[in-house]
Amino acid sequence: MTERRFVDLHTHTTASDGSLAPAELIALADRLKLAAIAVTDHDTTVGLAPARAAAAECSELAFIPGVEVSATFTGGTMHLLGLGVDDRSPKLSQMLDLLAAGRHARNPAIIAKLNALGLELTFDEVVAFAEPSGILSRNHIAQAMVHRGHVKNRTEAFDRYLTSGGPAYVTRSKLDPAETIAAIRDAGGLAALAHPKQLGCENTAQLERVVRELMAAGLEGIEVYHSDCSPTQTRQYLDLTRKLGLIAIGGSDFHGRGKPDVELGHPRVPLSLLPDDLIPRLVR
Ligand code: AMP
Ligand code: ZN
Ligand code: FE
Ligand code: FE
Repeated sequence: MTERRFVDLHTHTTASDGSLAPAELIALADRLKLAAIAVTDHDTTVGLAPARAAAAECSELAFIPGVEVSATFTGGTMHLLGLGVDDRSPKLSQMLDLLAAGRHARNPAIIAKLNALGLELTFDEVVAFAEPSGILSRNHIAQAMVHRGHVKNRTEAFDRYLTSGGPAYVTRSKLDPAETIAAIRDAGGLAALAHPKQLGCENTAQLERVVRELMAAGLEGIEVYHSDCSPTQTRQYLDLTRKLGLIAIGGSDFHGRGKPDVELGHPRVPLSLLPDDLIPRLVR
């Protein structure tokens, strides 16, 4: 039996805006002979139980329960990955409940704005694109808009209507990064900054200032490898993790059909990149 050498620590399922059910994602990860996979749906842990059950059948695949949490960030959004979380943590559940309530308030408001702009769309049409137990995101609204023929694809739905500051944009409630990290840590998880590129920092010094603040709140890692990250950026983030003594992690941010260019397990994240004791710590 050959050793499995690569991991993917950032993936989405139908519990958020991915197109594969948790069990399908795990089966694919096993077929691709990954050594470990983290399921990290947006703002929800409901996909973890079915993923864990499927992973129990895959003796060579380490299953890491995770979550990708949206936090407030001036001028945009910050995504924080929680890896190895215990989804029974009261503090984590409280945070996810708050995020769910924010979505419940936001989604009908977005649809009302679209309607006011002359686009016919109902809440039920949007719900049809999501799992009942999972989250409802702007991605599902975009899918329903495409289905209705209001736009030709999701990119157009975001660019013309849904993007931050767009005519149908509505904010939703989030916690600040420190509170978010505290909830992840309360659940026994490792908190890592996802795709630092999203923060839009102008230079490394600015990113370093943000990261140092997150470290003061308990951040342990940075997502250095990511499907939307150039080799130059990866090197920049890797240098920063070394300088600050953080753990470098990586994943694909696989969404299935929603992001057809992103393949599970790509970019390659070597198991050997991670500290020896990390995967055993994150498996639950
Ligand atoms: P939400 O969590 O409901 O605010 O929706 C965020 C999701 O919308 C993200 O996970 C992205 O997949 C998607 N998204 C956000 N901005 C864009 C954009 N400009 N183009 C395409 N998808 C986007
Ligand atoms: Zn997503
Ligand atoms: Fe993200
Ligand atoms: Fe993601």
